[in-house]
Amino acid sequence: MSDDHKLLPAQLQTQLIHHPYRPPAGFEALPPAVHKASTVIFSNVAAMRSRDYRHKTGYTYGLHGTPTTFTLEARIATLEGGQFCELVPSGLAALTLVGMAFLKAGDEVLLPDNSYGPNKSFAQVELAAWGITHRFYDPMDSADLAAKLSSKTRLVWFEAAGSLTMEFPDVPAAIAVIKAFAQPHARGILTAMDNTWGSGIAFCAFDLGVDVSAHALTKYPSGGSDVLMGSVVTRDEALYLLLHLCHMRLGFGVSGNDVELVLRGLNTIALRYAAQDSATCALALWLQKQDQVEAVLHPALPNSPGHATWARDCSAAACLLSIVFKPEYDQDQIDGFCDQLKLFKLGYSWAGPISLCAPYDIASMRTTAWPYKGGLVRLSVGLEALDDLRSDIAQALSAMHYSKG
Ligand SMILES: *Cc1c(COP(=O)(O)O)cnc(C)c1O
Repeated sequence: MSDDHKLLPAQLQTQLIHHPYRPPAGFEALPPAVHKASTVIFSNVAAMRSRDYRHKTGYTYGLHGTPTTFTLEARIATLEGGQFCELVPSGLAALTLVGMAFLKAGDEVLLPDNSYGPNKSFAQVELAAWGITHRFYDPMDSADLAAKLSSKTRLVWFEAAGSLTMEFPDVPAAIAVIKAFAQPHARGILTAMDNTWGSGIAFCAFDLGVDVSAHALTKYPSGGSDVLMGSVVTRDEALYLLLHLCHMRLGFGVSGNDVELVLRGLNTIALRYAAQDSATCALALWLQKQDQVEAVLHPALPNSPGHATWARDCSAAACLLSIVFKPEYDQDQIDGFCDQLKLFKLGYSWAGPISLCAPYDIASMRTTAWPYKGGLVRLSVGLEALDDLRSDIAQALSAMHYSKG
């Protein structure tokens, strides 16, 4: 299902590795140096007063950037097809920075009902306490989105594919609906994408029309399950300045050592994305045929919601799939399936080298109807041998059968 040569434009794949960093004269090493600082020394007061950190033309304080963080920012902006980037301490901090930079009391934010859970909680608790309202919309129904736009709407989130349930929304069509609404109401409505799934590789969020992309670098860019970091990217300089100033006031610094890990991970991101994508597609096809399985949710499967949109907009489908079990399996049996897996470890997060699994109760997380009665388990496919992963799932499924008698 993935076509390696079109996974990432060849030029971008090369740029990811040949970055503009220049080592000090006489020291032609390949990796960028890890610069660490709180204080940066100025040679005189005039230099101190005139140095411009806003446009990243100079260094003023560790929190406002080092040569190492600027290098990663440039590379993430390139990866995602954007122009300006801010780094933050986690993927969740990237989502909350967008809310804090662009929303004020009286505004409303719309989130897809299948969005990353903590982004919904942030709206329900923090944004609500600041007088910012929210509504959840059905990502697969543009009439529902249209009905929820109002004169208060300031920001609309997208997530493609949706967390856990993997519906793939038609983002350009939704943006057309938003623009058609915003123009007669003479109001700017910003659009933001949680771009963690596509990672700048499966599709270009800016080409789909969004203004801002937030990305959990914890996932693919790190690739090692060993660092937490996030980024916010845009092509729009005015939006970037709002993000940058808010970022400065919030004090969202990242460590040079963590940045180094992500820079290392980026060298292999395209290869890892392709390998994990093809293993996940193979497991999804196989799982569909297993007796215990009601449905496999994965946008490259023809019966997965939004498959045609995925096929139009994407070159790959990441390392996630969700299994919906037949309704005759109760939660204890589904928990038993997870406990029985040996190579798939129980844990949160994804896109690391080790395969992971976690059970979720989707009905309790949704405001819109959820069509399935059976329980759901999400798998993140790592870099183990495909046959070993398939055998591991097979033995856990057959243990389920056995416990049914
Ligand atoms: C993991 C994840 C995040 C948050 O990233 P952290 O670095 O764990 O805070 C945000 N969005 C999506 C879709 C994610 O999967």
